Amino acid sequence: MDSLGDAGADAWEVASRRAGVIAGQAAQLNADLVDLMVEVLETNCWSGGGIRSPEHWLQLMTAVSPSHAADIVAVARRKGDFPELEARLARGTVSLDQLVVVARHVPAAYAESVTEFVQAATVSQLRRVLPKYLFEPGTPGPVEDPPDPVVPVDDAPKLQMGLRGGRFVLRFDANPLDGALVEQAIREAKDALFTAGDPDATLADGMVECASRSLHQAAPASRREHYRVLVHLDADGNGWINKRGALPSRLMRKLTCDGTLKPVWTKDAKPVSVGRSMRIVPERTRRLIEDRDGGCRFPGCTVTGFLENHHLFHWSEGGATDIDTLISLCSRHHREHHQGEFSIEGDPGIPAGLRFTDRHGLPIERDIPDEIPPPDHPPPEKQPVRGWIMETTSINFRPTPDTG
Ligand SMILES: [Zn+2]
Ligand SMILES: [Zn+2]
Repeated sequence: MDSLGDAGADAWEVASRRAGVIAGQAAQLNADLVDLMVEVLETNCWSGGGIRSPEHWLQLMTAVSPSHAADIVAVARRKGDFPELEARLARGTVSLDQLVVVARHVPAAYAESVTEFVQAATVSQLRRVLPKYLFEPGTPGPVEDPPDPVVPVDDAPKLQMGLRGGRFVLRFDANPLDGALVEQAIREAKDALFTAGDPDATLADGMVECASRSLHQAAPASRREHYRVLVHLDADGNGWINKRGALPSRLMRKLTCDGTLKPVWTKDAKPVSVGRSMRIVPERTRRLIEDRDGGCRFPGCTVTGFLENHHLFHWSEGGATDIDTLISLCSRHHREHHQGEFSIEGDPGIPAGLRFTDRHGLPIERDIPDEIPPPDHPPPEKQPVRGWIMETTSINFRPTPDTG
Protein backbone atom coordinates (compact mmCIF):
# COMPACT_ATOMS: atom_id res chain seq x y z
CA MET A 1 0.00 0.00 0.00
CA ASP A 2 3.05 2.27 0.42
CA SER A 3 3.02 3.08 -3.26
CA LEU A 4 -0.48 4.54 -3.04
CA GLY A 5 -0.39 8.20 -2.21
CA ASP A 6 -3.50 10.08 -1.13
CA ALA A 7 -4.53 10.58 -4.72
CA GLY A 8 -4.11 6.84 -5.36
CA ALA A 9 -6.20 5.99 -2.32
CA ASP A 10 -8.95 8.34 -3.45
CA ALA A 11 -8.96 6.85 -6.91
CA TRP A 12 -9.12 3.38 -5.36
CA GLU A 13 -12.16 4.35 -3.30
CA VAL A 14 -13.96 5.99 -6.20
CA ALA A 15 -13.27 3.01 -8.43
CA SER A 16 -14.42 0.50 -5.79
CA ARG A 17 -17.65 2.37 -5.20
CA ARG A 18 -18.30 2.46 -8.92
CA ALA A 19 -17.43 -1.25 -9.26
CA GLY A 20 -19.98 -2.00 -6.55
CA VAL A 21 -22.75 -0.12 -8.39
CA ILE A 22 -21.92 -1.76 -11.71
CA ALA A 23 -21.76 -5.21 -10.08
CA GLY A 24 -25.20 -4.60 -8.59
CA GLN A 25 -26.62 -3.46 -11.94
CA ALA A 26 -25.07 -6.45 -13.69
CA ALA A 27 -26.72 -8.75 -11.13
CA GLN A 28 -30.09 -7.05 -11.71
CA LEU A 29 -29.82 -7.48 -15.46
CA ASN A 30 -28.71 -11.07 -15.04
CA ALA A 31 -31.84 -11.64 -12.94
CA ASP A 32 -33.84 -10.35 -15.95
CA LEU A 33 -31.94 -12.70 -18.23
CA VAL A 34 -32.69 -15.63 -15.91
CA ASP A 35 -36.41 -14.69 -15.88
CA LEU A 36 -36.39 -14.50 -19.66
CA MET A 37 -34.82 -17.96 -19.85
CA VAL A 38 -37.48 -19.33 -17.46
CA GLU A 39 -40.09 -18.17 -19.98
CA VAL A 40 -38.11 -19.47 -22.94
CA LEU A 41 -37.81 -22.89 -21.27
CA GLU A 42 -41.51 -22.96 -20.40
CA THR A 43 -42.73 -22.04 -23.86
CA ASN A 44 -40.00 -24.02 -25.66
CA CYS A 45 -39.78 -21.13 -28.10
CA TRP A 46 -35.99 -21.61 -28.46
CA SER A 47 -36.37 -24.84 -30.42
CA GLY A 48 -36.35 -25.43 -34.17
CA GLY A 49 -34.38 -23.96 -37.01
CA GLY A 50 -31.21 -25.85 -36.20
CA ILE A 51 -30.88 -24.47 -32.66
CA ARG A 52 -29.61 -27.34 -30.55
CA SER A 53 -30.47 -26.29 -27.03
CA PRO A 54 -31.70 -23.37 -24.91
CA GLU A 55 -28.01 -22.68 -24.21
CA HIS A 56 -27.27 -22.43 -27.94
CA TRP A 57 -30.20 -20.04 -28.40
CA LEU A 58 -28.93 -17.82 -25.59
CA GLN A 59 -25.39 -17.75 -27.00
CA LEU A 60 -26.76 -16.70 -30.34
CA MET A 61 -29.10 -14.01 -29.03
CA THR A 62 -26.80 -12.41 -26.46
CA ALA A 63 -23.27 -13.23 -27.69
CA VAL A 64 -22.31 -14.78 -24.34
CA SER A 65 -19.83 -17.68 -24.19
CA PRO A 66 -21.08 -21.30 -24.14
CA SER A 67 -20.16 -21.67 -20.45
CA HIS A 68 -21.87 -18.43 -19.48
CA ALA A 69 -25.01 -19.48 -21.35
CA ALA A 70 -24.93 -22.84 -19.55
CA ASP A 71 -24.71 -20.99 -16.21
CA ILE A 72 -27.73 -18.81 -16.90
CA VAL A 73 -29.81 -21.76 -18.07
CA ALA A 74 -28.74 -23.78 -14.99
CA VAL A 75 -30.03 -21.01 -12.71
CA ALA A 76 -33.23 -20.66 -14.77
CA ARG A 77 -33.95 -24.38 -14.51
CA ARG A 78 -33.92 -24.13 -10.71
CA LYS A 79 -36.04 -20.98 -10.53
CA GLY A 80 -38.12 -21.00 -7.36
CA ASP A 81 -35.78 -23.29 -5.42
CA PHE A 82 -33.90 -20.40 -3.77
CA PRO A 83 -36.43 -17.57 -3.33
CA GLU A 84 -34.31 -15.42 -1.03
CA LEU A 85 -31.13 -15.70 -3.14
CA GLU A 86 -33.12 -15.00 -6.29
CA ALA A 87 -34.56 -11.88 -4.66
CA ARG A 88 -31.04 -10.77 -3.71
CA LEU A 89 -29.86 -11.29 -7.28
CA ALA A 90 -32.70 -9.02 -8.40
CA ARG A 91 -31.70 -6.43 -5.77
CA GLY A 92 -28.08 -6.71 -6.86
CA THR A 93 -26.40 -8.01 -3.69
CA VAL A 94 -25.74 -11.56 -4.89
CA SER A 95 -24.01 -12.15 -8.20
CA LEU A 96 -25.08 -14.54 -10.93
CA ASP A 97 -21.84 -16.50 -10.52
CA GLN A 98 -22.52 -17.02 -6.83
CA LEU A 99 -26.01 -18.29 -7.59
CA VAL A 100 -24.65 -20.62 -10.29
CA VAL A 101 -22.59 -22.56 -7.73
CA VAL A 102 -25.69 -22.89 -5.56
CA ALA A 103 -27.89 -23.98 -8.48
CA ARG A 104 -25.39 -26.68 -9.39
CA HIS A 105 -24.79 -28.11 -5.94
CA VAL A 106 -27.37 -27.26 -3.29
CA PRO A 107 -30.64 -29.15 -2.71
CA ALA A 108 -33.67 -26.87 -2.43
CA ALA A 109 -34.30 -27.87 1.18
CA TYR A 110 -31.10 -26.07 2.18
CA ALA A 111 -32.02 -22.82 0.44
CA GLU A 112 -32.53 -20.83 3.63
CA SER A 113 -29.56 -22.23 5.44
CA VAL A 114 -26.99 -21.35 2.76
CA THR A 115 -28.26 -17.83 2.03
CA GLU A 116 -26.03 -15.81 4.36
CA PHE A 117 -22.98 -17.93 3.58
CA VAL A 118 -23.52 -17.45 -0.16
CA GLN A 119 -23.82 -13.68 0.15
CA ALA A 120 -20.65 -13.43 2.25
CA ALA A 121 -18.47 -15.84 0.28
CA THR A 122 -16.51 -15.25 -2.91
CA VAL A 123 -17.23 -17.47 -5.90
CA SER A 124 -13.95 -19.36 -5.34
CA GLN A 125 -14.90 -20.05 -1.74
CA LEU A 126 -18.33 -21.28 -2.83
CA ARG A 127 -16.74 -23.53 -5.44
CA ARG A 128 -14.45 -24.99 -2.80
CA VAL A 129 -17.11 -25.58 -0.18
CA LEU A 130 -20.47 -26.38 -1.79
CA PRO A 131 -19.53 -29.25 -4.14
CA LYS A 132 -17.85 -31.12 -1.31
CA TYR A 133 -20.43 -30.46 1.37
CA LEU A 134 -22.36 -33.59 2.29
CA PHE A 135 -25.96 -32.47 2.11
CA GLU A 136 -28.22 -34.97 3.83
CA PRO A 137 -28.91 -37.84 1.44
CA GLY A 138 -32.48 -38.07 0.28
CA THR A 139 -33.07 -34.34 0.15
CA PRO A 140 -34.45 -33.44 -3.26
CA GLY A 141 -32.01 -31.41 -5.27
CA PRO A 142 -29.76 -31.26 -8.27
CA VAL A 143 -28.07 -34.56 -7.45
CA GLU A 144 -28.58 -37.05 -10.25
CA ASP A 145 -30.89 -39.98 -9.65
CA PRO A 146 -28.94 -43.09 -8.77
CA PRO A 147 -28.85 -45.57 -11.66
CA ASP A 148 -31.24 -48.49 -11.55
CA PRO A 149 -29.84 -51.33 -9.51
CA VAL A 150 -28.09 -53.76 -11.83
CA VAL A 151 -29.52 -57.24 -11.74
CA PRO A 152 -26.76 -59.64 -12.75
CA VAL A 153 -27.86 -61.87 -15.60
CA ASP A 154 -25.29 -64.43 -16.49
CA ASP A 155 -25.94 -65.19 -20.11
CA ALA A 156 -24.71 -64.33 -23.57
CA PRO A 157 -25.44 -60.91 -25.08
CA LYS A 158 -28.46 -60.68 -27.35
CA LEU A 159 -28.87 -58.28 -30.20
CA GLN A 160 -31.86 -57.55 -32.37
CA MET A 161 -31.82 -55.07 -35.21
CA GLY A 162 -33.91 -54.24 -38.22
CA LEU A 163 -36.12 -51.70 -39.88
CA ARG A 164 -39.37 -50.74 -38.26
CA GLY A 165 -41.58 -48.01 -39.69
CA GLY A 166 -38.75 -46.70 -41.87
CA ARG A 167 -36.37 -46.42 -38.90
CA PHE A 168 -33.47 -48.64 -37.96
CA VAL A 169 -34.04 -50.09 -34.48
CA LEU A 170 -31.42 -51.88 -32.40
CA ARG A 171 -31.92 -53.63 -29.09
CA PHE A 172 -28.98 -54.94 -27.11
CA ASP A 173 -29.29 -57.07 -24.00
CA ALA A 174 -26.21 -58.28 -22.13
CA ASN A 175 -24.75 -59.12 -18.75
CA PRO A 176 -23.51 -56.08 -16.81
CA LEU A 177 -19.87 -56.78 -17.67
CA ASP A 178 -20.36 -56.91 -21.45
CA GLY A 179 -22.77 -54.03 -21.08
CA ALA A 180 -20.12 -51.94 -19.32
CA LEU A 181 -17.66 -52.60 -22.15
CA VAL A 182 -20.16 -51.46 -24.78
CA GLU A 183 -21.16 -48.48 -22.66
CA GLN A 184 -17.54 -47.40 -22.19
CA ALA A 185 -16.88 -47.63 -25.93
CA ILE A 186 -19.96 -45.55 -26.75
CA ARG A 187 -19.14 -42.99 -24.05
CA GLU A 188 -15.56 -42.70 -25.26
CA ALA A 189 -16.74 -42.04 -28.83
CA LYS A 190 -19.28 -39.49 -27.54
CA ASP A 191 -16.47 -37.75 -25.60
CA ALA A 192 -14.32 -37.70 -28.75
CA LEU A 193 -17.15 -35.90 -30.56
CA PHE A 194 -17.42 -33.54 -27.59
CA THR A 195 -13.68 -32.82 -27.80
CA ALA A 196 -14.10 -32.14 -31.50
CA GLY A 197 -16.40 -29.29 -30.45
CA ASP A 198 -19.86 -30.87 -30.31
CA PRO A 199 -21.12 -30.29 -26.76
CA ASP A 200 -24.51 -31.79 -27.59
CA ALA A 201 -23.27 -35.12 -28.99
CA THR A 202 -25.59 -37.83 -27.66
CA LEU A 203 -24.85 -41.45 -26.78
CA ALA A 204 -26.58 -42.38 -30.03
CA ASP A 205 -24.15 -40.13 -31.95
CA GLY A 206 -21.36 -41.91 -30.02
CA MET A 207 -22.62 -45.28 -31.22
CA VAL A 208 -22.66 -44.18 -34.86
CA GLU A 209 -19.12 -42.89 -34.39
CA CYS A 210 -18.06 -46.28 -32.90
CA ALA A 211 -19.46 -48.11 -35.91
CA SER A 212 -17.84 -45.74 -38.35
CA ARG A 213 -14.41 -46.12 -36.71
CA SER A 214 -14.70 -49.86 -36.60
CA LEU A 215 -15.41 -50.05 -40.33
CA HIS A 216 -12.55 -47.69 -41.12
CA GLN A 217 -10.15 -49.90 -39.22
CA ALA A 218 -11.28 -53.23 -40.64
CA ALA A 219 -8.32 -54.86 -42.36
CA PRO A 220 -7.52 -55.81 -45.05
CA ALA A 221 -9.08 -53.32 -47.43
CA SER A 222 -11.00 -56.04 -49.24
CA ARG A 223 -12.82 -56.82 -46.00
CA ARG A 224 -13.54 -53.14 -45.47
CA GLU A 225 -14.94 -53.02 -48.96
CA HIS A 226 -17.17 -55.98 -48.20
CA TYR A 227 -18.80 -54.21 -45.26
CA ARG A 228 -19.16 -50.83 -46.92
CA VAL A 229 -22.63 -49.38 -46.81
CA LEU A 230 -23.62 -49.23 -50.44
CA VAL A 231 -26.13 -46.67 -51.55
CA HIS A 232 -27.58 -47.47 -54.93
CA LEU A 233 -28.76 -44.65 -57.11
CA ASP A 234 -30.62 -44.77 -60.35
CA ALA A 235 -30.77 -42.16 -63.07
CA ASP A 236 -34.12 -40.89 -61.76
CA GLY A 237 -32.59 -39.92 -58.46
CA ASN A 238 -34.09 -42.77 -56.42
CA GLY A 239 -31.88 -44.63 -54.02
CA TRP A 240 -31.79 -47.59 -51.69
CA ILE A 241 -29.34 -49.10 -49.21
CA ASN A 242 -27.88 -52.61 -49.39
CA LYS A 243 -30.86 -54.15 -51.18
CA ARG A 244 -33.27 -52.90 -48.52
CA GLY A 245 -36.14 -50.47 -48.90
CA ALA A 246 -35.98 -47.14 -50.67
CA LEU A 247 -34.39 -44.24 -48.82
CA PRO A 248 -36.42 -41.16 -47.94
CA SER A 249 -35.49 -38.39 -50.36
CA ARG A 250 -34.11 -36.06 -47.65
CA LEU A 251 -31.61 -38.77 -46.61
CA MET A 252 -30.70 -39.30 -50.25
CA ARG A 253 -29.96 -35.61 -50.66
CA LYS A 254 -27.68 -35.62 -47.63
CA LEU A 255 -25.84 -38.81 -48.59
CA THR A 256 -25.23 -37.55 -52.09
CA CYS A 257 -24.14 -34.13 -50.80
CA ASP A 258 -21.00 -35.40 -49.08
CA GLY A 259 -20.38 -39.10 -49.39
CA THR A 260 -18.51 -41.73 -51.33
CA LEU A 261 -19.83 -42.77 -54.69
CA LYS A 262 -18.87 -45.88 -56.56
CA PRO A 263 -20.15 -46.03 -60.12
CA VAL A 264 -21.65 -49.32 -61.23
CA TRP A 265 -22.05 -49.88 -64.94
CA THR A 266 -24.95 -52.01 -65.97
CA LYS A 267 -25.94 -53.80 -69.12
CA ASP A 268 -29.49 -55.11 -69.53
CA ALA A 269 -30.10 -54.18 -65.89
CA LYS A 270 -27.20 -56.38 -64.74
CA PRO A 271 -24.08 -54.83 -63.17
CA VAL A 272 -21.08 -55.53 -65.39
CA SER A 273 -18.35 -53.43 -63.88
CA VAL A 274 -17.66 -51.50 -60.71
CA GLY A 275 -15.60 -48.31 -60.79
CA ARG A 276 -13.23 -46.93 -58.18
CA SER A 277 -14.81 -45.37 -55.06
CA MET A 278 -14.66 -41.60 -55.18
CA ARG A 279 -15.54 -39.08 -52.56
CA ILE A 280 -17.98 -36.56 -53.96
CA VAL A 281 -15.82 -33.75 -52.59
CA PRO A 282 -12.14 -34.39 -53.41
CA GLU A 283 -9.70 -34.39 -50.49
CA ARG A 284 -7.87 -31.23 -51.62
CA THR A 285 -11.09 -29.19 -51.90
CA ARG A 286 -12.22 -30.58 -48.57
CA ARG A 287 -9.05 -29.34 -46.88
CA LEU A 288 -9.35 -25.88 -48.41
CA ILE A 289 -12.93 -25.57 -47.26
CA GLU A 290 -12.29 -26.77 -43.73
CA ASP A 291 -9.34 -24.42 -43.56
CA ARG A 292 -11.42 -21.47 -44.70
CA ASP A 293 -14.40 -22.21 -42.41
CA GLY A 294 -12.57 -23.41 -39.30
CA GLY A 295 -15.70 -25.25 -38.15
CA CYS A 296 -19.43 -25.62 -38.74
CA ARG A 297 -20.80 -22.44 -40.35
CA PHE A 298 -24.18 -22.57 -38.54
CA PRO A 299 -24.45 -19.45 -36.34
CA GLY A 300 -23.15 -20.15 -32.85
CA CYS A 301 -22.23 -23.79 -33.53
CA THR A 302 -18.98 -24.79 -31.79
CA VAL A 303 -18.17 -27.98 -33.71
CA THR A 304 -14.72 -27.93 -35.35
CA GLY A 305 -14.07 -31.63 -36.04
CA PHE A 306 -15.75 -34.42 -38.06
CA LEU A 307 -17.10 -31.82 -40.49
CA GLU A 308 -19.11 -32.52 -43.62
CA ASN A 309 -19.18 -30.51 -46.82
CA HIS A 310 -22.49 -29.21 -48.01
CA HIS A 311 -23.24 -28.11 -51.58
CA LEU A 312 -25.19 -24.85 -51.61
CA PHE A 313 -26.36 -25.98 -55.07
CA HIS A 314 -26.68 -29.73 -55.30
CA TRP A 315 -24.36 -31.24 -57.92
CA SER A 316 -27.20 -33.35 -59.31
CA GLU A 317 -28.84 -30.06 -60.32
CA GLY A 318 -25.71 -28.74 -61.97
CA GLY A 319 -24.03 -27.16 -58.93
CA ALA A 320 -20.24 -27.18 -58.94
CA THR A 321 -18.12 -29.00 -56.38
CA ASP A 322 -15.74 -26.15 -55.65
CA ILE A 323 -14.74 -23.81 -52.92
CA ASP A 324 -17.26 -21.12 -53.89
CA THR A 325 -20.29 -23.36 -53.44
CA LEU A 326 -19.28 -25.67 -50.60
CA ILE A 327 -19.49 -24.98 -46.88
CA SER A 328 -18.57 -26.91 -43.74
CA LEU A 329 -21.40 -28.12 -41.52
CA CYS A 330 -21.30 -30.49 -38.56
CA SER A 331 -23.16 -33.72 -39.19
CA ARG A 332 -26.14 -32.61 -37.09
CA HIS A 333 -26.60 -29.30 -38.89
CA HIS A 334 -26.02 -30.99 -42.23
CA ARG A 335 -28.75 -33.52 -41.43
CA GLU A 336 -31.15 -30.87 -40.12
CA HIS A 337 -30.63 -28.69 -43.16
CA HIS A 338 -31.54 -31.57 -45.48
CA GLN A 339 -34.56 -32.25 -43.28
CA GLY A 340 -35.72 -28.74 -44.11
CA GLU A 341 -35.16 -27.26 -40.62
CA PHE A 342 -33.41 -24.20 -42.08
CA SER A 343 -32.13 -22.85 -45.35
CA ILE A 344 -28.78 -21.34 -46.29
CA GLU A 345 -27.89 -18.80 -48.93
CA GLY A 346 -25.14 -16.32 -49.64
CA ASP A 347 -21.46 -16.22 -50.41
CA PRO A 348 -19.39 -18.75 -48.44
CA GLY A 349 -16.18 -16.86 -49.29
CA ILE A 350 -17.08 -13.97 -46.95
CA PRO A 351 -16.89 -14.75 -43.19
CA ALA A 352 -20.35 -13.28 -42.51
CA GLY A 353 -21.58 -13.88 -46.04
CA LEU A 354 -24.06 -16.66 -45.31
CA ARG A 355 -27.65 -16.11 -44.31
CA PHE A 356 -29.46 -18.81 -42.33
CA THR A 357 -33.24 -18.72 -42.08
CA ASP A 358 -35.57 -21.04 -40.22
CA ARG A 359 -38.52 -22.88 -41.79
CA HIS A 360 -40.69 -19.79 -41.35
CA GLY A 361 -38.17 -17.66 -43.22
CA LEU A 362 -36.99 -15.83 -40.08
CA PRO A 363 -33.27 -15.08 -39.92
CA ILE A 364 -31.25 -17.11 -37.40
CA GLU A 365 -29.04 -14.39 -35.97
CA ARG A 366 -28.66 -12.00 -33.10
CA ASP A 367 -31.32 -9.32 -33.10
CA ILE A 368 -29.44 -6.18 -32.10
CA PRO A 369 -31.88 -3.37 -31.33
CA ASP A 370 -31.26 0.02 -33.00
CA GLU A 371 -31.19 1.75 -29.69
CA ILE A 372 -30.54 0.11 -26.33
CA PRO A 373 -32.36 1.90 -23.49
CA PRO A 374 -30.50 2.29 -20.19
CA PRO A 375 -31.50 -0.21 -17.47
CA ASP A 376 -34.56 0.95 -15.57
CA HIS A 377 -33.92 -0.80 -12.25
CA PRO A 378 -33.76 1.21 -9.04
CA PRO A 379 -30.15 1.71 -7.92
CA PRO A 380 -28.79 -1.61 -6.61
CA GLU A 381 -28.21 -2.08 -2.89
CA LYS A 382 -24.70 -1.63 -1.50
CA GLN A 383 -22.41 -4.60 -2.12
CA PRO A 384 -21.92 -6.79 0.96
CA VAL A 385 -18.43 -7.48 2.28
CA ARG A 386 -17.26 -10.76 0.85
CA GLY A 387 -14.48 -13.28 1.19
CA TRP A 388 -13.54 -13.23 4.88
CA ILE A 389 -11.08 -15.93 5.77
CA MET A 390 -13.22 -18.88 6.80
CA GLU A 391 -12.67 -22.16 8.57
CA THR A 392 -14.60 -24.31 6.13
CA THR A 393 -14.61 -27.44 8.33
CA SER A 394 -16.95 -25.80 10.81
CA ILE A 395 -19.55 -24.64 8.28
CA ASN A 396 -22.87 -26.29 8.92
CA PHE A 397 -25.95 -26.14 6.72
CA ARG A 398 -29.36 -27.49 7.72
CA PRO A 399 -32.36 -28.39 5.60
CA THR A 400 -35.34 -26.04 6.02
CA PRO A 401 -37.92 -27.78 8.24
CA ASP A 402 -40.91 -28.82 6.15
CA THR A 403 -43.71 -26.62 7.44
CA GLY A 404 -46.15 -27.23 4.60
ZN1 LIG B 1 -25.69 -31.05 -47.94
ZN1 LIG C 1 -23.09 -27.25 -36.52
